[in-house]
Amino acid sequence: MSDSTLSVQPSLQNAHGQCLCGKVKVKAVQLTLMAGACHCQYCQKWGGGPLLTLDAGTEVKLDGACFISTFNSSDWAERGFCNNCGTHLFYRLKQNGQYFIPVGLFDQLKDVVLDHQIFIEQKPAWYCFANQTKQLTGAEVFALFSAE
Ligand SMILES: [Zn+2]
Ligand SMILES: [Zn+2]
Repeated sequence: MSDSTLSVQPSLQNAHGQCLCGKVKVKAVQLTLMAGACHCQYCQKWGGGPLLTLDAGTEVKLDGACFISTFNSSDWAERGFCNNCGTHLFYRLKQNGQYFIPVGLFDQLKDVVLDHQIFIEQKPAWYCFANQTKQLTGAEVFALFSAE
């Protein structure tokens, strides 16, 4: 892991996105284009399948506050959604306020790379991505975060 974290990752500045109904608008000051897929059981429940997100760091501006509801999904994170159209807006870590935003919120993204898959041990057997990616178990993910 250490080699890849040292290399420069493709990213986009001031990336704009919005929910399905347009009531909530998102601006990420620095959006990495290295997408991650989460196969955990919570994400499967939340969205009906794996959650595909981009790391947006902590500098995220959200417009439409009264349309944003959050769900306290674990001790370490919460999930935001538009309470008008149901679009999933973010997965946010409580510890550092880091946002992971579903890729589909952003319009006309180019050069996105599916970089990693996490909670791979919880992936149901009925689908499998053909992309060559890093794969991490849930335990490996927790180990990475606790090491930071
Ligand atoms: Zn909406
Ligand atoms: Zn998940």
